[in-house]
Amino acid sequence: MTKMGVVLDGEAAVRTRLVERTCAWCGTVMTYGGRGRPPKYCTAAHRTRAWELRTAQARAERPVTAGGRTTAPVREVVERTATRTVTVAVPAPPRPAVRMSGKPYTLPEDAVEWVETLKALRDVAGVGQIYPFREQLARICDRTAQVLREAVPV
Ligand SMILES: [Zn+2]
Repeated sequence: MTKMGVVLDGEAAVRTRLVERTCAWCGTVMTYGGRGRPPKYCTAAHRTRAWELRTAQARAERPVTAGGRTTAPVREVVERTATRTVTVAVPAPPRPAVRMSGKPYTLPEDAVEWVETLKALRDVAGVGQIYPFREQLARICDRTAQVLREAVPV
């Protein structure tokens, strides 16, 4: 930066004056005619850009609560959803079991037949071939009773 002024050097008076200056934004050389305040920028656009940069920096440096910019790194939360196709084996519809003799028998056909079949089971619970399996039959009856109570009409 050139200073203007008069320096006494022995008997000679030495005068210094600004002749040219570079733009503080772009560096373009600007000649100075000596009248008025010497310009800092070559154009109003460069003065505006410099002002925008200064004020933006000042705004960014304010506390975050006052509108400033945070110095914390950007954090992200991602949600990951995986889709998997699962093939479920659908139980085959009940089919008539086979008697120990090898001959098929049929299931009861309606509610009345089911009631009679279960009553018959109840009556033979302590008898011969049923007795050893009474616990297994009781579990099946418990589960069946639960399903019957929770059944939804189709
Ligand atoms: Zn400029």
